[in-house]
Amino acid sequence: MPIRQLPVVVVNQIAAGEVVERPASVVKEVLENAIDAGAGRVEILVEGGGVERIEVIDDGCGIPLDELSLAISAHATSKVSAIEDLEHIATMGFRGEALASIGSVSRLELRSRPTSEDAGGLIIVDHGDITPAAPTACPPGTRVLISGLFARVPARRKFLKSAQAETTRIRRVVRDLAAANPEVSFKLASGGRVLLDLPAVEARSRIEACLGGDVAARMLEVKADRDGVSVWGLIGRPELARPTAQHQILSLNGRPIVDFRLRHAVREAFRGLIEPGRHPTMAIFLSVPPDRVDVNVHPAKTEVRFRDDRLVYSCIKRAVEATLDAADIVPPVHIPSVDIKPPPVLFGGRSSQAPSSQAASSFSADEIRAAIASTPSTPTVPVTIVDAARPVIQVHRMFLVTEDAEGILIIDQHALHERVMFERLLERIGQANLPSQRLLMPEMVDASADAIESMESLGPVLSRLGFDVSAGGPGTLTIHAVPSLLSERSVEIGAFVTDLLDRAAELCDMADEETALRDVLDMMACKAAIKAGDNLSERELADLLAMRESIERSSNCPHGRPTTLRLSIEELERRFGRR
Ligand code: ADP
Ligand code: MG
Repeated sequence: MPIRQLPVVVVNQIAAGEVVERPASVVKEVLENAIDAGAGRVEILVEGGGVERIEVIDDGCGIPLDELSLAISAHATSKVSAIEDLEHIATMGFRGEALASIGSVSRLELRSRPTSEDAGGLIIVDHGDITPAAPTACPPGTRVLISGLFARVPARRKFLKSAQAETTRIRRVVRDLAAANPEVSFKLASGGRVLLDLPAVEARSRIEACLGGDVAARMLEVKADRDGVSVWGLIGRPELARPTAQHQILSLNGRPIVDFRLRHAVREAFRGLIEPGRHPTMAIFLSVPPDRVDVNVHPAKTEVRFRDDRLVYSCIKRAVEATLDAADIVPPVHIPSVDIKPPPVLFGGRSSQAPSSQAASSFSADEIRAAIASTPSTPTVPVTIVDAARPVIQVHRMFLVTEDAEGILIIDQHALHERVMFERLLERIGQANLPSQRLLMPEMVDASADAIESMESLGPVLSRLGFDVSAGGPGTLTIHAVPSLLSERSVEIGAFVTDLLDRAAELCDMADEETALRDVLDMMACKAAIKAGDNLSERELADLLAMRESIERSSNCPHGRPTTLRLSIEELERRFGRR
């Protein structure tokens, strides 16, 4: 086929392939334009997940009639004029291709009136066919109406999800832009139902409104400034972590961005406070001088490249860590309010509205005796005084109960011991290799060739930890020495190494040696820690609680599950009707 210049509409459609992936990307582009136009309020109305109709009305600076045709042309923009401008982009848009792309895959009506003009103008692009701009009556600002998105691009339509799912994505786009632009008011409605109504407010209230009122009270502020990089935002306490990343807002210089590395920085900061696979709730806003970041890496402008990404990474990670370390993150226990129902009315006569005190007192003596008799009779260690003022008891050989200034602490003995050991091992290994114990008789375990190979490449990590293992012929691994801790705590060595072999390939794939090391330490701490069911001596109890005070993050085990819960005096007073 001979080489030909493509017609403009085809060029635009090709660009649309990257810029306009789905209705939410259209909403994003049009909203960015409104923000760039200095709008104080923006209203978004969608129908049918945005495929049927998207209407965006703003009160920004507007577009003069004679520039409307440029606005819908590709590579026409009012935001940059020379290549140097790309070094310090301060607007959301700059590529000049959004409206042209949208107009090539839908019917686009653009109405606009600059504040200084008496009348506005209207231009229509119907799948690339342009109806020239003509004067029209309209309020100051811009109104963009897009209908029949992808009506003639069946390939794109096929990849769209249900209207409901597309609406959810639109909502997220609006939410993320709104979070970064609290001074602008946003309203989103779908099919006549208001999904977001966000009046202009200060930054913190906006984030809380975006993430939902139920989380607002449990967010912690993050703030840091380093070498021109500034981080500000709110992170959710560990218990607010969710199974998906939907409650994460990340934005750079007002632009919502997708950046797996930076999200990872936050996850790393939460390491050991949330379970793997869960995502912290967060809204983090980064400011970096525009010349130190390239926003022109992807047509949708959601990916960016930092000139010094390590600095940004560590700045975020440290800021989040500092916030978590300074906060009291022991999860509170809330006692659900149960309605004490009156007993069934046997003989009629008693009103079902009986006050609960009467209901509570109406249990028979027999019932109460039966209830007491059925209480498990596992012996509990008598009250032990750790710190003169703080009694502690072991309950069911599983939990420790003590008090602090705010209330009653309930501690999972295994989880706490595991955390304590983990932190101590981590500290020790930072200084020297862990002590190692040579086995009198080397122990052999079955292993696949792959696992043996992985273990060999983990050699340096394993020897720091105190292991000495070698391939002992096909299908076996020989253990010569193990960390002293494991033998001291009578951990079954064969079983431990078998677990390690199962995870060897995964450990080799980890980002760096430190991550793999922490993982194995984690396994060691878990296996060596006291278990539920272990009876603790007074000394052990005292030791454990003292250690709790001495380490950071003692509130959660290394897997992120809580070690400690707090039942506050306030909650108890409330539940006992004292407040
Ligand atoms: P870009 O935003 O990259 O410049 P667009 O295709 O999104 O490219 O928009 C083209 C131009 O149209 C913008 O540069 C701007 O001058 C103008 N424009 C678009 N939308 C609006 C709006 N809502 N208010 C004012 N001007 C607008
Ligand atoms: Mg734009």
